[in-house]
Amino acid sequence: MNNSPSMEDIVSLSKRRGFVFQASEIYGGLSGFYDYGPLGVELSNNLKKLWWDAMVHARDNVYGVDGAIIQNPMLWQASGHIAGFNDPMVEDTITHKRYRADQLAGVDSTDLEELAQLLKDKKSPDGNPLGQPRYFNMMMQTWIGPLQDDAAKAYLRPETAGSIFTNYLNVKETMRAKLPFGIAQIGKAFRNEISPRDFIFRVRELEQMEMQYFIDPKDQEVIYQQWRDFAWNFLIQELGIREESLSWHEHGEKERAHYAKAAHDIYFNFPQGPKELWGTHNRSDFDLTNHTKASGKDLSYLDEASNERFTPYVIESSVGLGRMLLAVLCDAYQRDNVGGDERIVLRLNPKLAPVKVAVSPLLKNKPELVELARKIYTKLKTEFGAVLWDDNGNIGKRYRRQDEIGTPYCVTVDFDSLEDQSVTLRDRDSAKQARISADDLINSIRTGLEGA
Ligand code: ATP
Repeated sequence: MNNSPSMEDIVSLSKRRGFVFQASEIYGGLSGFYDYGPLGVELSNNLKKLWWDAMVHARDNVYGVDGAIIQNPMLWQASGHIAGFNDPMVEDTITHKRYRADQLAGVDSTDLEELAQLLKDKKSPDGNPLGQPRYFNMMMQTWIGPLQDDAAKAYLRPETAGSIFTNYLNVKETMRAKLPFGIAQIGKAFRNEISPRDFIFRVRELEQMEMQYFIDPKDQEVIYQQWRDFAWNFLIQELGIREESLSWHEHGEKERAHYAKAAHDIYFNFPQGPKELWGTHNRSDFDLTNHTKASGKDLSYLDEASNERFTPYVIESSVGLGRMLLAVLCDAYQRDNVGGDERIVLRLNPKLAPVKVAVSPLLKNKPELVELARKIYTKLKTEFGAVLWDDNGNIGKRYRRQDEIGTPYCVTVDFDSLEDQSVTLRDRDSAKQARISADDLINSIRTGLEGA
């Protein structure tokens, strides 16, 4: 049985079960924008918590911030985004539809000459001649206040890193931080992508989880490797993504962002092919040097031991939350057979599962079953929070429904339960059912959830 889901499988599951919806769906949607539904928001919160625990709570030198989405435009001038946050674009000369030139050419390059050469004899997807490739700036603009003139122009941040650099001194001073130390942030970013595509893979409003680690330049190689290892291990050990779904991609000269000295991406085998999931970048002293020049504030660092002053280098770890969620869904999605019936099962790491346990009375029209099941449900909900009541359809259908959303355990209360206070505990992955005392439920489930 082919177990790799197509993008249609994932889109359909996401909508059917309440993970992800099109934004403004009743108005026909909006290209590049999505809403997260009841299960999607749980999954995304679980991902954020695991990342924050591993990145901030497990260390004593990484601090969190939550910066504003709109910052002084001078920040983006100094960071080079206003001039250089560009993607190469090419236009269909008849329909005037615009495309990413590198994607049409099938290369990882932003070099206009190379792209022009490669696209010389190509046609647009509609079969029309193409114009010359040129750059398109992806910053999203807005205006602050009542006047919509140039002086009021501002930008929605294209990455969370900006307010990390502008808070470098604040964090260093308030936390009495010494190098090396990091600043982490989870938040929205906006990119006016030329062609949003592949569901939540490439969107115009995204959420990023980023950490910038400020270091002495002499440590750059060792620390760069440490953050590459961190990303790889986090995906496998914390999220449970299979190692064979991942690979490394090193950016070539023509692919690297304007600030990067070295860049390694982890690629995930998405349904549309292996694509970037998580980047580790050596940003050198690009950011602090430019912000020092533009703001006039000295952002250099005095190393007390050596009495040397230098501008810290930055190693960055940057991943998109939506892409991570998509990777987790694709990797966990499987079709298998249980007792001759085909089922779809999301083999999610239990720590990520949006619902931990579902509780059902065998029959919903037997008040004594419902009463006992409700009691158990309330107890489990107090303990685990994400617990679902499900009395719809027959028990087999309920199990299928829970398998599809990755619920690790289902508890069923039946007539025997009324006699001996035992219940059926069903395991998602093996589909095995065990009879267990209602008093032991919490411990058994906790062990199962934590031991994974
Ligand atoms: P790409 O090459 O795919 O456009 P990028 O190299 O521009 O991505 P970065 O600027 O390094 O990406 O952003 C860091 C992370 O943010 C990426 O690894 C990815 O997970 C996520 N990301 C970037 N752009 C988007 C987008 N348009 N939609 C969803 N996630 C994105």
